[in-house]
Amino acid sequence: MDCDDPVELVPGVWQVRQQLSQEVPLYLHLVVGAEGAALVDGGLPSSLPAIERLMAAAGVRDRDLRFLLNTHGHHDHIGTFAALRTRTRARVVADPAAVRWIEDLDANLREFALHRPDIVADSPELRAELAPTFGTPCPVDVTITEGGTVRLGGGVVLEALQLPGHVVGELGWLERSSRTLLLGDIVTGTSWSFFHGHLLPTQFRRSLHRLRALTLDEGVHLVCLAHYASRAAGEFLDLLAEVERYLDQVTDTIEGALGAAPRSLTEVWRRTCADMGRVEEFRGLAMVQAHLREAVAAGRARCVGPDLYVAVRSEG
Ligand SMILES: [Zn+2]
Repeated sequence: MDCDDPVELVPGVWQVRQQLSQEVPLYLHLVVGAEGAALVDGGLPSSLPAIERLMAAAGVRDRDLRFLLNTHGHHDHIGTFAALRTRTRARVVADPAAVRWIEDLDANLREFALHRPDIVADSPELRAELAPTFGTPCPVDVTITEGGTVRLGGGVVLEALQLPGHVVGELGWLERSSRTLLLGDIVTGTSWSFFHGHLLPTQFRRSLHRLRALTLDEGVHLVCLAHYASRAAGEFLDLLAEVERYLDQVTDTIEGALGAAPRSLTEVWRRTCADMGRVEEFRGLAMVQAHLREAVAAGRARCVGPDLYVAVRSEG
């Protein structure tokens, strides 16, 4: 497994990097207080050795691990929860909307990757690619929503922020004593060979705005992200601006593919992938479908048949 040595980013906040593929890194974080520690996200099943190294470097024994904090229910954020929950005293904490995908991996796979088998087929190749990345289902012990807190002792407190957009239910964690913000995938990848994807475009934009305001208002010092290197506030604000420009480009490309003649979801998806140079796969399909639904709801497009859309051009 390709994984770096763990590093202590600021006192009590530890990080380890595992490379998921050539283009996608995964960063895992451990927050340590006087009375125990919390792991933020569980990576893939293959992340267990990296997490063990992270705990050892931070001096966290199994019995010190008190919480497994989830950001969202995607497979690369939950893979070691079942194993760690069994052997430590840690409790799994998640957004209510993430519970189903953590506890029921069949539903997770079906709704994440096989949501439109009529367009992206449920093939042996897709199953073979995804199967090793799905671990063992894990019970969620505690659900938490906006403003809920997790106390680790010595003034180390993680406060939950609800950040929908990439998925329906996603949490970020603000540790106020070190002014560190720990995030999952609400700041999505923008330049991978496939679309990282977002299921709620309008709420995604709102969450990005909220993160900008929060960074400025709370004097955030350090931002830790799941798929980007950690960064100081100024660099984080630049990243937010980059992701907003990417969201504009995605929106313009999808809605620009519509015209007076009906276009199918598949056509719009293929054209969006071609225009933006991305591989056609299930994440991008879900994203395009979500954008089309929002365009219809906002009156910028009309649905004229099953999966068929036309543009609504404003007059004048
Ligand atoms: Zn992820």
